[in-house]
Amino acid sequence: MTADKIKIGVTGVGHLGRWHVQQLKAIPQADLIGIFDTDAKRANVIENEFGVPAFPEFEKLVEKVDAVSVVTPTITHYLYALQAIKAGKHVFIEKPVTETVEQGEEIVALADEKGLKLQVGHIERFNPAFLALEGIAIDPLFIESHRLSTFNPRGTDVAVVMDLMIHDIDLILSFVHSPVKSIDASGVSIISPSEDIANCRLNFENGCVANVTASRISTRKMRKMRFFQPNAYISVDFLEGASEVYHITDPAADNQGQNLAFSLGSVGEGKDRKEIRYTRYEKKDINPLNYELTLFLQSILKDQPVAVSGKDGVRALRVARAILKNIEEHAHLVKTQWSI
Ligand code: NAD
Repeated sequence: MTADKIKIGVTGVGHLGRWHVQQLKAIPQADLIGIFDTDAKRANVIENEFGVPAFPEFEKLVEKVDAVSVVTPTITHYLYALQAIKAGKHVFIEKPVTETVEQGEEIVALADEKGLKLQVGHIERFNPAFLALEGIAIDPLFIESHRLSTFNPRGTDVAVVMDLMIHDIDLILSFVHSPVKSIDASGVSIISPSEDIANCRLNFENGCVANVTASRISTRKMRKMRFFQPNAYISVDFLEGASEVYHITDPAADNQGQNLAFSLGSVGEGKDRKEIRYTRYEKKDINPLNYELTLFLQSILKDQPVAVSGKDGVRALRVARAILKNIEEHAHLVKTQWSI
Protein backbone atom coordinates (compact mmCIF):
# COMPACT_ATOMS: atom_id res chain seq x y z
CA MET A 1 0.00 0.00 0.00
CA THR A 2 1.37 3.40 -0.98
CA ALA A 3 -0.09 6.66 0.33
CA ASP A 4 -2.62 6.82 -2.49
CA LYS A 5 -2.95 3.30 -3.93
CA ILE A 6 -4.10 -0.10 -2.68
CA LYS A 7 -2.57 -3.29 -4.05
CA ILE A 8 -5.50 -5.52 -4.92
CA GLY A 9 -6.14 -8.94 -6.47
CA VAL A 10 -9.32 -10.52 -7.87
CA THR A 11 -10.31 -14.14 -7.32
CA GLY A 12 -12.96 -15.49 -9.72
CA VAL A 13 -12.79 -13.81 -13.12
CA GLY A 14 -15.99 -15.13 -14.70
CA HIS A 15 -18.81 -12.86 -15.87
CA LEU A 16 -18.71 -10.35 -13.00
CA GLY A 17 -15.04 -10.86 -12.09
CA ARG A 18 -14.07 -9.65 -15.56
CA TRP A 19 -15.92 -6.37 -14.87
CA HIS A 20 -14.09 -6.07 -11.52
CA VAL A 21 -10.77 -6.40 -13.37
CA GLN A 22 -11.83 -3.85 -16.00
CA GLN A 23 -12.92 -1.30 -13.39
CA LEU A 24 -9.95 -1.85 -11.06
CA LYS A 25 -7.61 -1.20 -14.00
CA ALA A 26 -9.30 2.18 -14.43
CA ILE A 27 -9.60 3.28 -10.78
CA PRO A 28 -6.71 5.57 -9.78
CA GLN A 29 -6.68 4.28 -6.17
CA ALA A 30 -6.19 0.66 -7.35
CA ASP A 31 -2.94 -1.10 -8.16
CA LEU A 32 -4.24 -4.33 -9.67
CA ILE A 33 -1.54 -6.92 -8.91
CA GLY A 34 -3.11 -10.08 -10.28
CA ILE A 35 -5.99 -12.50 -10.66
CA PHE A 36 -6.78 -16.09 -9.68
CA ASP A 37 -9.34 -18.53 -11.10
CA THR A 38 -9.54 -22.32 -10.76
CA ASP A 39 -10.31 -22.37 -14.50
CA ALA A 40 -6.78 -21.72 -15.86
CA LYS A 41 -8.09 -21.17 -19.41
CA ARG A 42 -10.45 -18.44 -18.24
CA ALA A 43 -7.67 -16.87 -16.15
CA ASN A 44 -5.47 -16.80 -19.26
CA VAL A 45 -8.15 -15.10 -21.33
CA ILE A 46 -8.49 -12.32 -18.75
CA GLU A 47 -4.68 -12.12 -18.30
CA ASN A 48 -4.27 -11.52 -22.04
CA GLU A 49 -7.21 -9.16 -22.37
CA PHE A 50 -6.16 -6.85 -19.53
CA GLY A 51 -2.43 -7.56 -19.17
CA VAL A 52 -2.87 -8.58 -15.51
CA PRO A 53 -0.84 -11.61 -14.29
CA ALA A 54 -2.80 -14.78 -13.49
CA PHE A 55 -1.46 -16.40 -10.32
CA PRO A 56 -1.34 -20.22 -10.15
CA GLU A 57 -2.43 -20.21 -6.48
CA PHE A 58 -4.63 -17.89 -4.44
CA GLU A 59 -2.11 -17.95 -1.54
CA LYS A 60 0.61 -16.50 -3.77
CA LEU A 61 -1.70 -13.67 -4.86
CA VAL A 62 -2.75 -12.92 -1.28
CA GLU A 63 0.91 -12.54 -0.23
CA LYS A 64 1.38 -9.71 -2.73
CA VAL A 65 -1.69 -7.57 -2.02
CA ASP A 66 -3.34 -5.35 0.61
CA ALA A 67 -6.87 -6.30 -0.43
CA VAL A 68 -8.79 -8.98 -2.30
CA SER A 69 -11.99 -8.88 -4.32
CA VAL A 70 -13.90 -12.19 -4.08
CA VAL A 71 -16.04 -12.79 -7.18
CA THR A 72 -16.26 -16.58 -7.14
CA PRO A 73 -19.47 -18.64 -6.79
CA THR A 74 -21.17 -17.91 -3.46
CA ILE A 75 -20.39 -21.33 -2.01
CA THR A 76 -16.67 -20.42 -2.00
CA HIS A 77 -16.93 -16.83 -0.64
CA TYR A 78 -16.41 -17.88 2.99
CA LEU A 79 -13.15 -19.79 2.43
CA TYR A 80 -11.54 -17.07 0.32
CA ALA A 81 -12.61 -14.29 2.68
CA LEU A 82 -11.43 -16.27 5.69
CA GLN A 83 -8.04 -16.98 4.11
CA ALA A 84 -7.54 -13.34 3.10
CA ILE A 85 -8.63 -11.93 6.47
CA LYS A 86 -6.40 -14.40 8.37
CA ALA A 87 -3.52 -13.13 6.21
CA GLY A 88 -4.38 -9.57 7.32
CA LYS A 89 -5.93 -8.39 4.01
CA HIS A 90 -9.01 -6.23 3.43
CA VAL A 91 -11.85 -7.92 1.55
CA PHE A 92 -14.48 -6.86 -0.96
CA ILE A 93 -16.91 -9.75 -1.34
CA GLU A 94 -19.71 -10.15 -3.86
CA LYS A 95 -23.29 -10.68 -2.73
CA PRO A 96 -24.62 -12.82 -1.10
CA VAL A 97 -21.86 -12.36 1.48
CA THR A 98 -21.60 -16.10 2.20
CA GLU A 99 -23.72 -19.19 1.87
CA THR A 100 -24.75 -19.39 5.53
CA VAL A 101 -25.41 -16.76 8.18
CA GLU A 102 -22.90 -18.44 10.53
CA GLN A 103 -20.12 -18.17 7.94
CA GLY A 104 -20.95 -14.50 7.42
CA GLU A 105 -20.94 -13.79 11.15
CA GLU A 106 -17.56 -15.50 11.50
CA ILE A 107 -15.81 -13.43 8.83
CA VAL A 108 -17.41 -10.21 10.09
CA ALA A 109 -16.15 -10.92 13.63
CA LEU A 110 -12.66 -11.82 12.40
CA ALA A 111 -12.36 -8.74 10.17
CA ASP A 112 -13.50 -6.55 13.10
CA GLU A 113 -11.02 -8.20 15.45
CA LYS A 114 -8.17 -7.59 13.00
CA GLY A 115 -9.28 -4.04 12.13
CA LEU A 116 -9.75 -4.92 8.44
CA LYS A 117 -12.31 -3.54 5.99
CA LEU A 118 -14.98 -5.91 4.71
CA GLN A 119 -17.38 -4.54 2.09
CA VAL A 120 -20.21 -6.49 0.43
CA GLY A 121 -21.16 -6.01 -3.24
CA HIS A 122 -24.75 -4.89 -2.81
CA ILE A 123 -24.40 -2.83 -5.95
CA GLU A 124 -27.99 -1.55 -6.17
CA ARG A 125 -27.19 0.88 -3.34
CA PHE A 126 -25.14 2.66 -6.01
CA ASN A 127 -27.66 2.42 -8.83
CA PRO A 128 -27.67 5.85 -10.56
CA ALA A 129 -31.47 6.07 -10.23
CA PHE A 130 -31.14 5.68 -6.48
CA LEU A 131 -28.21 8.03 -6.15
CA ALA A 132 -30.28 10.66 -7.95
CA LEU A 133 -32.61 10.70 -4.92
CA GLU A 134 -29.84 11.87 -2.58
CA GLY A 135 -31.32 14.25 -0.03
CA ILE A 136 -34.89 12.89 -0.36
CA ALA A 137 -36.06 11.39 2.94
CA ILE A 138 -37.22 7.79 2.41
CA ASP A 139 -39.26 6.64 5.39
CA PRO A 140 -41.82 4.24 3.95
CA LEU A 141 -44.93 2.63 5.39
CA PHE A 142 -45.36 0.37 2.37
CA ILE A 143 -42.89 -0.82 -0.27
CA GLU A 144 -43.65 -2.59 -3.53
CA SER A 145 -40.68 -4.12 -5.31
CA HIS A 146 -40.37 -6.02 -8.60
CA ARG A 147 -37.20 -7.52 -10.02
CA LEU A 148 -38.09 -9.59 -13.07
CA SER A 149 -35.46 -11.01 -15.42
CA THR A 150 -35.50 -13.10 -18.56
CA PHE A 151 -33.97 -16.56 -18.16
CA ASN A 152 -30.19 -16.93 -17.99
CA PRO A 153 -28.67 -20.18 -16.67
CA ARG A 154 -25.99 -18.18 -14.80
CA GLY A 155 -26.98 -17.85 -11.15
CA THR A 156 -29.49 -20.71 -11.20
CA ASP A 157 -27.27 -22.74 -8.85
CA VAL A 158 -29.01 -20.78 -6.07
CA ALA A 159 -32.69 -19.85 -5.52
CA VAL A 160 -33.91 -16.57 -7.03
CA VAL A 161 -34.15 -15.19 -3.49
CA MET A 162 -30.36 -15.49 -3.06
CA ASP A 163 -29.53 -14.43 -6.61
CA LEU A 164 -31.91 -11.50 -7.30
CA MET A 165 -34.25 -10.77 -4.40
CA ILE A 166 -31.34 -10.26 -1.99
CA HIS A 167 -30.58 -6.95 -3.79
CA ASP A 168 -34.02 -5.63 -2.83
CA ILE A 169 -33.88 -7.12 0.65
CA ASP A 170 -30.66 -5.20 1.30
CA LEU A 171 -32.10 -1.96 -0.09
CA ILE A 172 -35.29 -2.30 1.94
CA LEU A 173 -33.36 -3.04 5.14
CA SER A 174 -31.23 0.02 4.52
CA PHE A 175 -34.39 2.20 4.67
CA VAL A 176 -36.60 0.45 7.19
CA HIS A 177 -34.82 0.75 10.50
CA SER A 178 -36.92 -1.80 12.32
CA PRO A 179 -36.66 -5.57 12.85
CA VAL A 180 -38.64 -7.95 10.62
CA LYS A 181 -41.60 -9.19 12.68
CA SER A 182 -42.97 -11.82 10.32
CA ILE A 183 -42.63 -13.18 6.80
CA ASP A 184 -45.19 -14.70 4.47
CA ALA A 185 -43.52 -16.08 1.36
CA SER A 186 -44.05 -18.47 -1.47
CA GLY A 187 -41.97 -19.57 -4.43
CA VAL A 188 -42.12 -21.79 -7.44
CA SER A 189 -39.43 -23.77 -9.19
CA ILE A 190 -40.15 -23.87 -12.92
CA ILE A 191 -37.00 -24.93 -14.76
CA SER A 192 -34.19 -24.99 -12.21
CA PRO A 193 -33.96 -27.17 -9.09
CA SER A 194 -34.60 -24.16 -6.80
CA GLU A 195 -37.26 -21.43 -6.91
CA ASP A 196 -37.31 -19.33 -10.10
CA ILE A 197 -40.10 -17.05 -8.90
CA ALA A 198 -40.64 -15.86 -5.35
CA ASN A 199 -42.85 -13.40 -3.56
CA CYS A 200 -42.71 -12.36 0.06
CA ARG A 201 -44.44 -9.99 2.39
CA LEU A 202 -42.11 -8.65 5.03
CA ASN A 203 -43.88 -7.21 8.07
CA PHE A 204 -41.70 -4.92 10.16
CA GLU A 205 -42.16 -4.17 13.85
CA ASN A 206 -42.72 -0.46 13.10
CA GLY A 207 -45.73 -1.36 10.92
CA CYS A 208 -44.01 -1.02 7.55
CA VAL A 209 -44.87 -3.71 5.01
CA ALA A 210 -42.76 -4.68 1.99
CA ASN A 211 -44.17 -6.76 -0.84
CA VAL A 212 -41.21 -8.13 -2.79
CA THR A 213 -41.34 -10.12 -6.03
CA ALA A 214 -38.42 -11.64 -7.94
CA SER A 215 -38.46 -13.79 -11.06
CA ARG A 216 -35.79 -15.06 -13.41
CA ILE A 217 -38.13 -16.49 -16.03
CA SER A 218 -40.07 -13.42 -17.00
CA THR A 219 -40.77 -12.54 -20.64
CA ARG A 220 -39.59 -8.98 -20.04
CA LYS A 221 -37.30 -7.25 -17.61
CA MET A 222 -38.56 -5.02 -14.83
CA ARG A 223 -36.64 -3.59 -11.87
CA LYS A 224 -38.77 -1.19 -9.90
CA MET A 225 -39.15 -0.19 -6.29
CA ARG A 226 -41.97 2.01 -5.04
CA PHE A 227 -42.11 3.61 -1.62
CA PHE A 228 -45.37 4.87 -0.11
CA GLN A 229 -45.09 7.23 2.84
CA PRO A 230 -47.43 9.83 4.40
CA ASN A 231 -45.91 12.80 2.60
CA ALA A 232 -44.84 11.22 -0.69
CA TYR A 233 -44.87 8.39 -3.17
CA ILE A 234 -41.42 7.61 -4.56
CA SER A 235 -40.88 5.47 -7.63
CA VAL A 236 -37.46 4.17 -8.67
CA ASP A 237 -36.92 2.52 -12.03
CA PHE A 238 -33.50 0.81 -11.89
CA LEU A 239 -33.58 -0.16 -15.55
CA GLU A 240 -34.69 3.16 -16.97
CA GLY A 241 -32.44 4.90 -14.47
CA ALA A 242 -35.02 7.48 -13.44
CA SER A 243 -36.82 8.25 -10.20
CA GLU A 244 -39.97 10.24 -9.49
CA VAL A 245 -41.25 11.75 -6.28
CA TYR A 246 -44.98 12.54 -6.03
CA HIS A 247 -46.61 14.60 -3.32
CA ILE A 248 -49.76 16.55 -2.52
CA THR A 249 -49.37 20.27 -2.86
CA ASP A 250 -51.31 23.49 -2.84
CA PRO A 251 -51.84 24.98 -6.34
CA ALA A 252 -50.93 28.40 -4.93
CA ALA A 253 -47.56 27.17 -3.63
CA ASP A 254 -44.30 27.69 -5.48
CA ASN A 255 -44.21 24.50 -7.57
CA GLN A 256 -41.27 25.36 -9.74
CA GLY A 257 -39.61 22.33 -11.36
CA GLN A 258 -42.56 20.09 -10.45
CA ASN A 259 -44.92 18.57 -13.00
CA LEU A 260 -48.66 18.35 -12.50
CA ALA A 261 -49.79 14.70 -12.25
CA PHE A 262 -53.46 15.48 -11.63
CA SER A 263 -55.71 17.83 -9.75
CA LEU A 264 -57.53 16.46 -6.73
CA GLY A 265 -60.13 19.15 -6.32
CA SER A 266 -60.95 20.02 -2.70
CA VAL A 267 -59.80 17.44 -0.19
CA GLY A 268 -62.16 17.52 2.78
CA GLU A 269 -64.94 19.97 3.57
CA GLY A 270 -63.89 23.59 3.58
CA LYS A 271 -60.39 22.67 2.47
CA ASP A 272 -58.51 24.24 -0.41
CA ARG A 273 -58.02 22.59 -3.76
CA LYS A 274 -55.03 20.24 -3.88
CA GLU A 275 -52.87 18.88 -6.64
CA ILE A 276 -50.56 15.91 -7.01
CA ARG A 277 -47.26 17.07 -8.44
CA TYR A 278 -44.16 15.14 -9.22
CA THR A 279 -40.49 15.78 -9.74
CA ARG A 280 -38.48 13.55 -12.04
CA TYR A 281 -34.86 12.93 -11.08
CA GLU A 282 -32.67 11.86 -13.99
CA LYS A 283 -29.98 9.31 -13.22
CA LYS A 284 -26.49 10.39 -12.26
CA ASP A 285 -23.72 9.59 -14.70
CA ILE A 286 -22.05 6.99 -12.46
CA ASN A 287 -20.83 3.45 -13.07
CA PRO A 288 -22.09 1.59 -9.95
CA LEU A 289 -19.32 -1.03 -9.92
CA ASN A 290 -16.60 1.58 -10.36
CA TYR A 291 -18.21 3.65 -7.60
CA GLU A 292 -18.56 0.85 -5.04
CA LEU A 293 -14.99 -0.38 -5.63
CA THR A 294 -13.65 3.18 -5.39
CA LEU A 295 -15.51 3.66 -2.09
CA PHE A 296 -14.00 0.41 -0.79
CA LEU A 297 -10.46 1.52 -1.67
CA GLN A 298 -11.08 4.97 -0.20
CA SER A 299 -12.33 3.45 3.05
CA ILE A 300 -8.98 1.62 3.37
CA LEU A 301 -6.88 4.65 2.42
CA LYS A 302 -8.75 7.00 4.75
CA ASP A 303 -9.53 4.38 7.41
CA GLN A 304 -13.23 5.18 7.21
CA PRO A 305 -16.26 2.86 7.54
CA VAL A 306 -17.15 0.92 4.37
CA ALA A 307 -20.26 1.84 2.37
CA VAL A 308 -21.94 -1.58 2.72
CA SER A 309 -20.61 -3.48 5.69
CA GLY A 310 -20.22 -7.19 6.31
CA LYS A 311 -22.94 -6.77 8.96
CA ASP A 312 -25.28 -5.35 6.28
CA GLY A 313 -24.50 -8.36 4.10
CA VAL A 314 -25.25 -10.79 6.93
CA ARG A 315 -28.47 -8.93 7.80
CA ALA A 316 -29.73 -9.30 4.19
CA LEU A 317 -28.62 -12.93 4.12
CA ARG A 318 -30.45 -13.68 7.39
CA VAL A 319 -33.71 -12.31 5.96
CA ALA A 320 -33.15 -14.14 2.62
CA ARG A 321 -32.61 -17.42 4.51
CA ALA A 322 -35.76 -16.82 6.58
CA ILE A 323 -37.73 -16.22 3.35
CA LEU A 324 -36.42 -19.49 1.88
CA LYS A 325 -37.38 -21.36 5.06
CA ASN A 326 -40.84 -19.81 4.92
CA ILE A 327 -41.20 -20.83 1.26
CA GLU A 328 -40.26 -24.41 2.19
CA GLU A 329 -42.81 -24.48 5.04
CA HIS A 330 -45.45 -22.98 2.76
CA ALA A 331 -44.74 -25.58 0.03
CA HIS A 332 -44.99 -28.36 2.60
CA LEU A 333 -48.32 -27.01 3.81
CA VAL A 334 -49.66 -26.82 0.25
CA LYS A 335 -48.52 -30.42 -0.45
CA THR A 336 -50.09 -31.66 2.79
CA GLN A 337 -53.39 -29.97 1.98
CA TRP A 338 -53.42 -31.43 -1.55
CA SER A 339 -52.78 -34.92 -0.26
CA ILE A 340 -55.71 -34.81 2.18
P1 NAD B 1 -19.44 -16.93 -13.11
O1 NAD B 1 -19.82 -18.37 -13.03
O2 NAD B 1 -19.59 -16.21 -14.39
O3 NAD B 1 -17.93 -16.76 -12.63
C1 NAD B 1 -17.38 -17.42 -11.54
C2 NAD B 1 -15.88 -17.59 -11.81
O4 NAD B 1 -15.29 -18.15 -10.64
C3 NAD B 1 -15.57 -18.55 -12.98
O5 NAD B 1 -14.58 -18.00 -13.80
C4 NAD B 1 -15.08 -19.81 -12.29
O6 NAD B 1 -14.10 -20.52 -13.06
C5 NAD B 1 -14.46 -19.24 -11.03
N1 NAD B 1 -14.41 -20.18 -9.92
C6 NAD B 1 -15.26 -21.17 -9.61
N2 NAD B 1 -14.88 -21.78 -8.48
C7 NAD B 1 -13.77 -21.15 -8.08
C8 NAD B 1 -12.90 -21.32 -6.98
N3 NAD B 1 -13.11 -22.23 -6.03
N4 NAD B 1 -11.82 -20.50 -6.88
C9 NAD B 1 -11.57 -19.54 -7.82
N5 NAD B 1 -12.36 -19.36 -8.89
C10 NAD B 1 -13.45 -20.14 -9.00
O7 NAD B 1 -20.28 -16.24 -11.94
P2 NAD B 1 -20.61 -14.68 -11.77
O8 NAD B 1 -21.93 -14.40 -12.39
O9 NAD B 1 -19.44 -13.88 -12.17
O10 NAD B 1 -20.85 -14.61 -10.18
C11 NAD B 1 -19.77 -14.59 -9.27
C12 NAD B 1 -20.25 -14.03 -7.92
O11 NAD B 1 -20.72 -12.71 -8.11
C13 NAD B 1 -21.40 -14.79 -7.26
O12 NAD B 1 -21.26 -14.76 -5.87
C14 NAD B 1 -22.62 -13.98 -7.62
O13 NAD B 1 -23.66 -14.09 -6.70
C15 NAD B 1 -22.06 -12.59 -7.66
N6 NAD B 1 -22.79 -11.71 -8.56
C16 NAD B 1 -23.14 -10.49 -8.11
C17 NAD B 1 -23.84 -9.62 -8.96
C18 NAD B 1 -24.22 -8.26 -8.47
O14 NAD B 1 -25.13 -7.67 -9.02
N7 NAD B 1 -23.55 -7.73 -7.46
C19 NAD B 1 -24.15 -10.00 -10.26
C20 NAD B 1 -23.73 -11.25 -10.70
C21 NAD B 1 -23.05 -12.10 -9.84
